Amino acid sequence: MATVSIADLHKSFGNTRAVDGLTVDIADGEFFVILGPSGAGKTTTLKSVAGLVDIDAGAVHIGGNDVTRVEPYHRNVAMAFESYALYPQKTVAQNLASPLKSGRTGRYTEAQRAERIDQVTSTLGINHLQQRLPRELSNGQRQRVALGRVLVRPADVYLLDEPLSHLDAKLRAAMRAELKQLGAMSNTTTIYVTHDYQEALALGDRIAVMRDGRLVQIGTPEEIWRTPADTFVAKALGQPEINLLDGVVDDGRIRLGDGNFEVPVPAGATCGRGDRVRVGLRPCDIEAGVDTGERRGRVLLAERLGRNVELTVDIGGAQLIVLSSGRDGIGERDDVALTVAESDVHLFAVGDGDTPRLARTDRASELEAAQ
Ligand code: ATP
Repeated sequence: MATVSIADLHKSFGNTRAVDGLTVDIADGEFFVILGPSGAGKTTTLKSVAGLVDIDAGAVHIGGNDVTRVEPYHRNVAMAFESYALYPQKTVAQNLASPLKSGRTGRYTEAQRAERIDQVTSTLGINHLQQRLPRELSNGQRQRVALGRVLVRPADVYLLDEPLSHLDAKLRAAMRAELKQLGAMSNTTTIYVTHDYQEALALGDRIAVMRDGRLVQIGTPEEIWRTPADTFVAKALGQPEINLLDGVVDDGRIRLGDGNFEVPVPAGATCGRGDRVRVGLRPCDIEAGVDTGERRGRVLLAERLGRNVELTVDIGGAQLIVLSSGRDGIGERDDVALTVAESDVHLFAVGDGDTPRLARTDRASELEAAQ
């Protein structure tokens, strides 16, 4: 077990700044997720901790020791890559045994090795495959064996790079739950890279959101979900994506679209009458009901997505995506009333591209902290 501290890390490949001044401190035993789109610098960060890339500047400490110039082998980290490398001529059990035979893990007896392998294969649901060769496995099974090769070996830090990416949706969800348990059980500091927000929210003790080599926001899943630092983070979490609409503040309310649809100004928001703001409303936070009030919209499209129905609602001059339970019988061409709780209204600055969350007054932050 060990803390991991990354300080002002820089790494470029030619003109590409893969990691551009990243600083994070990861606690002992923490399950830390790095979330970001392709090319954000996630893998480069992980490889920097593993010692697999020569960093341009900055420092990496593991367990309080400066390992910036230490060879990968001596860092006592175990890393799983997205592309899984297995010995083709060895069975699953032999593939899993090999990390336990080398170097500082060579002290295991045959029985201890078998026990660890059993534990890991049970957790990963590949116990029945122990005698198979890699070529006799599906991609998802191979990926689980590769993950097993990491988890079977005790290490100070586990570094996992999209370890579930080749699994189908159902297996991913099941494995997510297993991994969560495994994390809690083993208490080993883990850095987990993903571009899947559901994985990040489900697994992370904390999440770091990266973009273009930089840290955009760091916090618990709750913090990142409830108070995204900017529209980029807001869009990165949630499917369907958060609705972003520009509106005008008027007497404690914000008028959106052509003004028919209004939402409350969140308590303590630093905006005043006449200000233009960008409002973020998650589709799951908007309630659509049979039209009785003033906040009216017309359903243009109703598409069933499994349990929910995704409604595209025209509010006059703008469209909103709303997730409804589908039990209310709302369909295309219906007029609906839309309601959003004040605490579910996210306010951002207006402007080109992604914009920051609008600050809240100190009083509002104090009230929130006291709750
Ligand atoms: P993905 O989710 O696609 O794996 P990522 O967030 O892990 O992306 P990195 O793999 O760290 O991103 O890459 C960050 C940037 O650095 C990208 O623009 C990538 O093309 C570039 N890069 C990474 N490794 C190399 C390399 N060995 N040579 C040249 N460019 C590289």
